[in-house]
Amino acid sequence: MRHGAQCPCCGAEQILPRGGFTTSRRGFLAAAVGTLAAAPAFAQGGAPRVLHVRRFVTNDSFSGVYWRDGRYDREALRQLDYVFRDLSAAETTPMDPRLFDVLWQVAQAVDSGEEYYEVISGYRTPETNASNAQRSRRVSTVSLHMSGMAADCRLPGRVSLEVARRAADLQLGGVGLYRRDGFVHLDCGPVRRW
Ligand SMILES: [Zn+2]
Repeated sequence: MRHGAQCPCCGAEQILPRGGFTTSRRGFLAAAVGTLAAAPAFAQGGAPRVLHVRRFVTNDSFSGVYWRDGRYDREALRQLDYVFRDLSAAETTPMDPRLFDVLWQVAQAVDSGEEYYEVISGYRTPETNASNAQRSRRVSTVSLHMSGMAADCRLPGRVSLEVARRAADLQLGGVGLYRRDGFVHLDCGPVRRW
């Protein structure tokens, strides 16, 4: 994998209407202050949800339960936000926890067990995204990474094509395969694939 490679996040700007990010973000915040912050697709009860994630380059990691009894664990989210922070800008944002549900579901689908996700890119500040867009024409100027709703990641023990296929089958959000760089883009936005 090329060092520092990031996805261009194409697709989102063609699907979301103008101002769509603001609306969906506001909707998410409204849901998050309720007693049950789970998105409808994940509203079922069940066992605690566990994630194992490690940040590529810095090795910051989180391993443990982030959701139990119908609620996201506030401290776990805080730690996850740090792992998914914008490294170039050294800035943390509250990530949309539905992204963690996507990662959790995909990990279950490929039966990754205790294996850690390697997170290449999570949150991107508008400045970081603009800087990426300047370097590559392919980089979208409207990216779900800027809304804390996307991650570029890989499961080192799995072929990215397999992860992307299983993720796409789940129809939970956007799935982008960057086969040459060996990672997938996953997000909790509209269902789409590239
Ligand atoms: Zn991405």
